[in-house]
Formats: sequence, structure tokens, C-alpha cells
Amino acid sequence: MNLAVDPRALARDAASAAAPDPLDWLAPVLFRTTGVPGVYLRTEVYEDTLERLAAWVTRLRPEGAETYRFPPVSSRKMVEKSGYLKSFPNLLGCVCGLHGGEAEIEGAVSRFEAGGDWTDATTPSDLVLSPAACYPVYPLAAARGPLPEGGAIFDVAADCFRAEPSSHLDRFQSFRMREFVCMGRPDDVAAFRDAWMDRAPEIADDLGLPFRLDVADDPFFGRVGRMKAVAQRQAALKFEMLVPLRGAGKATACMSFNGHRDHFGLTWDLRSADDAPAHTACVAFGMDRLTVALFAVHGADRAAWPARVRESLRL
Ligand code: 5GP
Ligand code: ZN
Repeated sequence: MNLAVDPRALARDAASAAAPDPLDWLAPVLFRTTGVPGVYLRTEVYEDTLERLAAWVTRLRPEGAETYRFPPVSSRKMVEKSGYLKSFPNLLGCVCGLHGGEAEIEGAVSRFEAGGDWTDATTPSDLVLSPAACYPVYPLAAARGPLPEGGAIFDVAADCFRAEPSSHLDRFQSFRMREFVCMGRPDDVAAFRDAWMDRAPEIADDLGLPFRLDVADDPFFGRVGRMKAVAQRQAALKFEMLVPLRGAGKATACMSFNGHRDHFGLTWDLRSADDAPAHTACVAFGMDRLTVALFAVHGADRAAWPARVRESLRL
């Protein structure tokens, strides 16, 4: 038997022992670990619940919404042009690979096999990991010419990545996001977001989740970013459905209601029927966060969940 102790394992144990989290008990019920914080292998009960939740969201889908499902990787150029690097450069994951000739690639692999590093031989590809579900839909719509009278509504989803490792079960690096997106004239788009915010109590009640709706800001990077966050808050461009998962501790944002004004309209030359730059808004369901929230609030045994929640999820 090898009794050698891995100091990294000790450090990890010490860190988690120092900071136990109220959600920790759920980890063995819902996930298997990968050794990477915020990236989990999902158990059957977790995945079945998330799929039922997705079916429930589909039943909420606005009439006439066009539906697309996007891959976990996005065009790097598209994400750059969307302005992501100006706002969240620290969260973006870039797909890199061994793109050299045969000799270079073999050299990198040999260095790895000799106990060295291979990643210093990688170069970026034209892909990044999708940071949110809605980015690809704006250029998709813009390419078709001006929006129809009354605007357009989309139902989109993607596996998203944000580089923010955490041991907390409500902060993943890899998570699924579902969004309803509206594009059109400013008044129509504002009415869309307002209507979804008005529906927040019904949504939360259907899932049996206590919640509070509050104005929020995105985690913009750096000093200029902090100013952007203040401006975003002042203009009330972002609201979140906050679900308390840790008693009186900081509540978890499980949904967001975002207005972008004409940001994507100008970026992609997306025009409404009157040829003005379109306004856009998105309503995002954090599918993994909502699923974790269901278990955190109602317990591990789905048979014991409240009747209304079981009905919503057709359990
Ligand atoms: P937003 O674009 O507003 O930051 O994210 C939209 C929704 O995705 C959030 O309201 C939240 O439910 C979900 N989300 C954002 N970041 C994370 C994360 O780190 N982990 C998980 N599980 N969900 C997230
Ligand atoms: Zn969005």
C-alpha cells in the first residue's frame, strides 16, 4: 500500500474543510467529480430533472418563436465582434490545438511523454467556448435583412463556458443556458422583457422556489468595467431572479432578464421593419442553476417534492 500523501490533495481537503458550503451535501447526490472545479459529471436523477425542466420551459415558449440549438463552441470572430473581450475577457475560453507540422506535433507529444509540457506548442483556433446562448442569434437574424413588422422572437440554448472555477455547486464553469430572445422596435422589446419579469412569480411558484427579483449588473472586467456595471445598474438593463439557497447568505441568480438597447442592432446592422437599428432583449434560464436550486430547496427525494412542482415537471 502506498502511504505517500499528495500535498495537493491535502491542500484541497484543507480548503474545503475551511470553507464548507451549505450546498455541499448535494454534490454526491447530483454529481461525480472530474477533478476540475465547476465541471461535473451528472447523475441520472440530475439529468432527468434538467430534461423535465427543459420540457417545462418549452411549454412556456412564446408563440411564433423560432427555435435553434447552438453548439458549445462559437466562432471566435463572432464573439470578438459582439464585444465580449471588451467586457469579460477574463471569462472567455479559447479553443487551442496543435496546429503545426508533423515534426512540431510529434515534438510536443514527445515532450509530454517525457514528463514535460505539450500545451506551449498549441496555437489558438478560430473557435471559442460559447460564453452565452444568445450571441449567435443576432448575426443569424441580421443576415436575413430587416426584421418583420412586430419584430422576431427566438428560443435558443447552448452549453456555455465561463472561466470562473469555484467549489460551489451553483457556480459552474460549464453550464447550460436557455434563452428567449426578442428583437425589434424599442417599445416592443421593452414590453417583452417587462412581460417576462411580470411572469417571474408564476415561474418561481411553478417550481416552488422562493425568490426575489432585483436589478443587477454583469461582472464587467477591470476598472472601466466597474464603471460599466454602475451604468448598467442605473439604466436598469439587467434584472435577476435571485433564489436563496444558503439561508440568509447571498442568493443565487437562476434567471436573468436583459435589455441590450441597440448594442447588437448596431454591431450586426440588425434593423427593425422601419429600418432603425433594432433593440434586443433576452430572458435567460440558468438550467443547471435552476436544477440545483430544485434539489437544494425541495430535497434529494423527488417523490417528496410539492405537488405543484411535480406537476410542472410531470414527475
Ligand atoms: P448571465 O448571462 O445573466 O450572467 O447568465 C444567465 C444565467 O445563466 C444566470 O442567471 C444563471 O442562472 C446562469 N449562470 C450564469 N453563470 C453561471 C454559473 O457560473 N454557473 C451556473 N450553473 N449557471 C450560471
Ligand atoms: Zn442573452
